[in-house]
Amino acid sequence: MTTTGAEERKRIREKRLQKRKRNRKLIGISLCILFIVVACITIISCFGDDTYRSEKEFKEHVSYCFSKNDYHRVKDVQGENTIIAYGDPLSVALKYPKTGNSVTDAYLKDVAESVQEDFYKEYDDVEDEEKYLKLMDYAIYESPKSAISVVLIQEDQQKIDGEMVTIDTEVHSYNFSTKTGSVLTGVQIFNTDYREFVSEYLQNYFEKMYEQKLVEGYEDEIKVSGDTLNNFALTDYGASFFFQPGTILDKEEGFVQVEIPYTDLDGTIREDVVSRAIDPERPMVALTYDDGPYPKTGNRILDCLEKNGVVATFFEVGKNVKNFPEVTKREAELGMEIGNHSWSHPELTDLKKKEIKSEISKTNEEIKDATGEFPTLLRPPYGSVDDKVLKAADMPAILWSVDTLDWKSRKAKSVVKVIKKVEEKDGLDGRVVLMHSIYESTAEATEEIVPWLLEQGYQLVTVSEMLEYRYDTEPKDGKLYGYDYFYAD
Ligand code: ZN
Repeated sequence: MTTTGAEERKRIREKRLQKRKRNRKLIGISLCILFIVVACITIISCFGDDTYRSEKEFKEHVSYCFSKNDYHRVKDVQGENTIIAYGDPLSVALKYPKTGNSVTDAYLKDVAESVQEDFYKEYDDVEDEEKYLKLMDYAIYESPKSAISVVLIQEDQQKIDGEMVTIDTEVHSYNFSTKTGSVLTGVQIFNTDYREFVSEYLQNYFEKMYEQKLVEGYEDEIKVSGDTLNNFALTDYGASFFFQPGTILDKEEGFVQVEIPYTDLDGTIREDVVSRAIDPERPMVALTYDDGPYPKTGNRILDCLEKNGVVATFFEVGKNVKNFPEVTKREAELGMEIGNHSWSHPELTDLKKKEIKSEISKTNEEIKDATGEFPTLLRPPYGSVDDKVLKAADMPAILWSVDTLDWKSRKAKSVVKVIKKVEEKDGLDGRVVLMHSIYESTAEATEEIVPWLLEQGYQLVTVSEMLEYRYDTEPKDGKLYGYDYFYAD
């Protein structure tokens, strides 16, 4: 650096202003083309700050660096997590948000810990008198697409001539479903051909905006097959794509952020993100568990599903939800589908219309209280259903096409055997499997059957996903999806 810190910052600010002015002009000129994009070029740096010699000075330096960042914090952040570790020659100061969703927060914690680990590994051979620092700060966005996005900005500093100087900056974004808390991939957010569209869009945009300033080989960053098009965040306005410093413009310009508005992405981006990527071409099974929630066995089943990264549907009895709402809440957080299995498990066909309505609506309310969302599917107890029940319930009634008889045998082996037999004979694609979440034997069977199904190439889906992806249908209120429905052929 030949300029001082203050001059450098001033220069950057002026450059940025000039760029904004020029951008505005360009946008005016090219209104006929689809482009209204926000270009935001940011440089983060701590030039000019003396190096630190003690933990106290280190903390001062770090808080000075963080105080200069001004990243988006649109979503209400529930708090902040930090990893601060002072050391010689290596120190870290990492900040990341607490979202309040346990699945998302666990994911972010993992990311932060690997950032720290990788940093120690990368610089493990530096001399004692050297000084390196890894900083991480974040932006957080909430979109109308049932997603939140977290952007982590990492900065490496090195002591050069008695000052801490930024030597590297990296930006990585992560998108999470607000329903399941799980990380989302591009295909869950966009329609299948989004890469072609985005690639072309960015190509046009960069050519218009930056012309001669583009670095050589920048096209590689936006090519359809590359990994870089995965680095985007969903904001309240559009999809914001990030590019590492030096890949589109000169390194001194910092990272490049381009936002494509949702209006331009119409037809390319999904209305709402799908919680899981499901390939309609591959076989799928829906496991269903009735009669819960019941903590001991229910949590054992959930542990297994969580460990294998899969989902199932739980048809819950309302009064059990009232007793054990935390189990139902956990199911929802893990992306399970939760259905209505009446309030007290009667034969609904024996009840009067008014009683049926009360059994159903009380349960819907209880599930809403536990999870924040009303269930959309009903499984009538004992599969006992007629026109009166369908009309009174006014929900889609879901039966099954594989009965494991787990309530009768109470043996894990028998449950596994029933399922494997169907697979041998007709295959399980498109099937809805009936089990109950209140037996130890069923939990044990789940632990065997889930990895086995995955090995056989099955996708495990919820009932709603099965209807959508295998049967191409949206469940209708008052309609019966009976014993003859869930057969793929
Ligand atoms: Zn039942």
